[in-house]
Amino acid sequence: MKLVKTITAKVFNPTERKRRALHGLWKSWKAALGSKRDYAFLRESTDLPSFYCREMSWKIKEGAEAPVGVPKDALKLLPGGAFAPWFASIPTPDGRVCLPLRMSRGHSRLLAECEVCDSQLIKRGKEYYLHIVVSKDTPIPTISYHAPVLAVDIGERVIATSVMLVEGTISSPGFHGREVRSIRRHYAWLRKRLGRRKLLRVIKRVGHTEHRKVDARLHVIAATLVERAREMGAVIAIGDLSGIRKGSRGRRVNRIVNAMPFNRLSLFIEYKAAWAGVPVIKVDEAYSSRECRICHQDGRRPSQGRFICPSCGEYNADLNGAVNIGSRALAYMAIAGAPGIAPLRGTPSPQVECDAVSS
Ligand SMILES: [Zn+2]
Repeated sequence: MKLVKTITAKVFNPTERKRRALHGLWKSWKAALGSKRDYAFLRESTDLPSFYCREMSWKIKEGAEAPVGVPKDALKLLPGGAFAPWFASIPTPDGRVCLPLRMSRGHSRLLAECEVCDSQLIKRGKEYYLHIVVSKDTPIPTISYHAPVLAVDIGERVIATSVMLVEGTISSPGFHGREVRSIRRHYAWLRKRLGRRKLLRVIKRVGHTEHRKVDARLHVIAATLVERAREMGAVIAIGDLSGIRKGSRGRRVNRIVNAMPFNRLSLFIEYKAAWAGVPVIKVDEAYSSRECRICHQDGRRPSQGRFICPSCGEYNADLNGAVNIGSRALAYMAIAGAPGIAPLRGTPSPQVECDAVSS
């Protein structure tokens, strides 16, 4: 399975000469994009190095916003030191420039490990960024029958509730991302206020900020969960979320439910897991929040956080959902031992010690 990832690197403190060279490249690229001509024409009439002219013929369709495409044979990466972990040498109309790059430590490591593919030069304000695409071949992870299961219930109130199921016992429940909900509420309120004053441009900017903040939290949650599963040699079980948007009511509830970043978190988890070689099982999550994890009777949810079973009493609803997802995954692993088909409702759950985690 070939996986790709984009690494964002900031061109850090380029000298005045390098900055001018980048600016020249940027301007020539923009001008050439406008001309909408073929390789031969661009080669004749612009000062762009041939790498870019070739790249341009692919990019013209993307329109005026297309960032500068840096093909992989044009980009040379050199390991750096304390000042910048990597240097990138790229051709410009003023000759090659060697740019110091800053990036996260994880990304810096990936650059060393992975194959570098085509990249893009982005200009944001006065700063330049290089988006470097890297790829890696990973085997499809195999699932062992006895592996522990890290079950994750993705929900509205708590973004992710996780629980580890090891040989029939439930351990280390975790609740992640309560703050995501408050971020979203805050921005909804802010947008409404700005809307009354018709500040449309501000609203758009605020929307971007919200998106960025929420995504940053989701990335951290997904990374934490995948790392925990990797350490334990566990399989991650998540609910298949395709049905989650049904059955909500009221404008306010609808706004929260429809816009909640369920799908993004699920994608982040799947993606990071694939990258780390952690297997993921997606199970049908229909009724997983309404079924008692101990006796499988239908229970009630008088409020978001509470679950009441007619026989077993009351406990935490999110945790109940997570355990149900985990049980379905375990039942499925016992039958099949490979990903693909989701187990059905009512499959037997493993012996679980519930008292330890009723909250
Ligand atoms: Zn029960």
